[in-house]
Formats: sequence, structure tokens, C-alpha cells
Amino acid sequence: MKILFASSEIFPYAKSGGLADVASSLPKALSKEVDIIRVMPFYGFMDESKFDKTDIQYDINLGGINYKIEILSRLDEDILTYFIKAPLLSDTQNLYGDSGAYANNDMRFGIFSKAICSLASSLHVELVHLNDWHCALSAFWLKNSDIKTVFTIHNLAYQGIFEVQTLDRLGISREHFNFQDLEFWGKCNFMKAGIRYSDAITTVSPTYAKEILTPKFGCGLDGFLNFYKEKLSGILNGIDTDFFNPKTDRAIFKNYDKNSLNIKKENKKELLKKTKLKDENLPLFIMISRLVEQKGFGIILDSLEDFLKKELNLIILTEGSSEYRTPLVEFAKKYKNFELIFGYDENLSHQLYASGDFLLMPSLFEPCGLNQMIAMRYGTLPIVHNTGGLKDSVHEKTKKCGNGIVFSKPSKKSFMLAIRRALKLKNTNSLREFDMSCDFSFEKSAKKYKKLYKELL
Ligand code: ADP
Repeated sequence: MKILFASSEIFPYAKSGGLADVASSLPKALSKEVDIIRVMPFYGFMDESKFDKTDIQYDINLGGINYKIEILSRLDEDILTYFIKAPLLSDTQNLYGDSGAYANNDMRFGIFSKAICSLASSLHVELVHLNDWHCALSAFWLKNSDIKTVFTIHNLAYQGIFEVQTLDRLGISREHFNFQDLEFWGKCNFMKAGIRYSDAITTVSPTYAKEILTPKFGCGLDGFLNFYKEKLSGILNGIDTDFFNPKTDRAIFKNYDKNSLNIKKENKKELLKKTKLKDENLPLFIMISRLVEQKGFGIILDSLEDFLKKELNLIILTEGSSEYRTPLVEFAKKYKNFELIFGYDENLSHQLYASGDFLLMPSLFEPCGLNQMIAMRYGTLPIVHNTGGLKDSVHEKTKKCGNGIVFSKPSKKSFMLAIRRALKLKNTNSLREFDMSCDFSFEKSAKKYKKLYKELL
């Protein structure tokens, strides 16, 4: 079974969120079972000298214009990754935009999707696994080929919606511009191509697979998805448990495992030295999320005044610009027990997971979420809203079972009650030990993907 796995981001080459982690760890787990090669864009911020040149080169034609494609490669951890170097796609210093999205993302990812198709046929793969809207058009262009396609929705909120003229520039006939096809409220929608033309659709948790069929979570595509629901399934993501391992993680101050949980406190002590936070005996709450509405920053802002009056410390590591930035800065100025850190910092995020007592994840919706699994791997207890993959991976601690704190409504009241339950937890070490022994690896899910591939071939 020969598979090409396509994603717009793969860690460590480029990352904006969980997609990069999944595109790194899922193929790694799959490589034990199937012959898998990955493909992603070559971005302008990458150092070309660190990549190997290949002799694969071709032209693709979109809307009458020729684009010269070069393919670079790298072999890491026994997995071969191809990088598509192309005009527009590779000219940018970020993945998708700087202050806003790049105006030519339609062409950038149209070129990426078309180049994936050419690569797939030159490599003679049997199936292409496409991830999110950035490569969704590949399913459209491969529809009459022998190559099967699986399309995974990592977040339905991002669909790749552009003006109708995009179709002309991509050489796609306007006969596809109708509501059963690529049209969406007068514009064209790349995600719809993935949904309609792929042989199977997956999303990243069983609960999210059900949620997206409803108007509340369907982002306008619930009706369309319902039409194709026979080929839709949910497979829970996992994490790379070698990379996220407190026993060997070189980014954290001191390594530990479930039998040496007291060392977690030493990590906290070191981390606090880097901040204005003082008392390491206070429970440390952490939050590591993109600064967007989805991640529950509205609930956080509603609750912060009451939250920060409690005996606790809070560190938020976040990146992005939105209306939440200024009020968060004001809170951080006012409260000595709140450290706010802007930026994207992989090592610091590991230090936070290693030091935290509790992780906050009040997401309004969450296709899967990786933070809660990473947190548990580091013995940090997750406090989550009961939605999507959070619902599938975190269960309220009761006398008999459970691995975290779960609140049912995305409201200040429900959130603050959860905080109260967290602060009342006794003997948290046994719960931390339990969480650290849970299996969040990608092995189980990889087996489900393999089964799906097999059914299609
Ligand atoms: P999403 O993909 O919606 O952003 P996920 O929970 O699936 O959310 O994945 C988020 C990933 O990005 C996790 O690995 C998390 O630790 C990481 N992350 C998010 N924000 C930051 C940041 N500012 N710095 C470092 N890592 C971050």
C-alpha cells in the first residue's frame, strides 16, 4: 500500500497549530504499517541549503498560465518528505498570512493542490491522504484517476473561501459553480471539493464527526456534509509520545516520569523565575492556545476578575492579534499572579506543560485538541469544555474514574464551578500518575486509518 500524505504544515518544518503535529506524528505511526511519503509546501522562510534537491521537476498549467514546480526532499526519522517549491506558494515568509491572510492564497494552495496530483502520479501512489482546505482541490483534480483520496477535516471553521474568479484562474469550469458543487454563498469553497470528491472523509474525533452535521457546528456546511455522511467518520488524533515525553524532553528544566512527580515542582520553580510570578506553592494554571474566539478567550475574559482573586497563578502563552489582546494585557498589568506571554515558542510550551498543575481549555468547539493530551502526558490536569475531541479524551474525575475536569456550558458560571472543583481536588498526584500512564499515542488511530485505506483500495 503506497500512500502520499499531504499537508500545508508538518512539524518541525512549519507549524501554526495542531495540524503540523498530526502531520508529523500520524505518518510516523502509519509508517510501521504502510509505505508512506509526505508532501508539503516549501515556504520562503525555510533554508534551502537544509533540503536535498531532487530531479523531479514539472510544469503545471492553471488557467492558461504555466507554473514551474521543483521538488525538494528530506529524510527524517526514516520518513521521506517532499517539498513543493513553486511560484507564489514559496514566495511568502509565513504560511498563510502576516497581519491578514495573503490575498493570493487561492492560487498558492491551488498550485499546491495541483502539484500534489502530479507528484502522486509520478510516484505511482495508490492513495492520497489530503488534510484541510489547502489541498482539498486535489480530490477534485484526481476524481477521474485511479488514485483514491481520503480527506481529513481538522477544523471546519477554515474552508478556503474565495471569489468566483478564482475558478477561472485555476482553470476550473464555471459549470462547477453551483450549490451542489463548489459554490458557497456566491463564492467558491475549496473545502467543498474535498468533501464532495474524496472517496472518504474523516475528521479528528468521533464527537466532532457528529457535531459538524448540525447547524451549531457545521459552519454552513452541515447540510452538504449530511449529504455525504455515509463516507464520513471520526478518528481521534493522538500525539507523538516520543517527542512529548517528560522523561526525555530536552526543552524542560528537569526530566521526570510518573514515579518522580515531585520533580514537576522543580520545573515550576525554574519557570516562575522567568516570570513575575512568585509563590511556587500556589497551583499553576496554564493556557497555550491561538488567540481566537474558538479557544474560549471570551469565557476567560469574563472570568478573569474572579479567577485571579483566587489563590493561584496563571500563565497564558498565546499568539495572534484579536480583540482579546488589549483586555488581556490590562489584566496582566493589574494582577501579580497573571503572566501573559505573546509569541509562538515551542520550548516554552513544553516548559509550561512540565510546570503546570492545570491546563485551561475552555474551547467553544474543538475538533480534537492536542493540548489536553500533551498536558496529561506531563501530569498536568486538563480543565475542558465538553465538546468535540475534548469530550472524547477528558472525563470528569469521580471517585471511581476520570482524568480531568469537564464543564458542560461555555459560560463563566460553568467554568468557575470547574475551577472550584479543580482547587478542591485532593491527592492530585495519583490522578497525575494515572493521566501520565494513559495511552495518547497515535498507534490505535493509525490502525483505523490503515483499515480505511484498505477498504478503499
Ligand atoms: P489548534 O490546531 O486549533 O491550534 P490544537 O490543540 O490541535 O489546536 O494544537 C495546538 C498545538 O499548538 C499544541 O501542540 C500546542 O502546544 C501548540 N501551541 C499553540 N499555541 C502555541 C504557542 N503560542 N506557542 C507554542 N506552542 C503553541
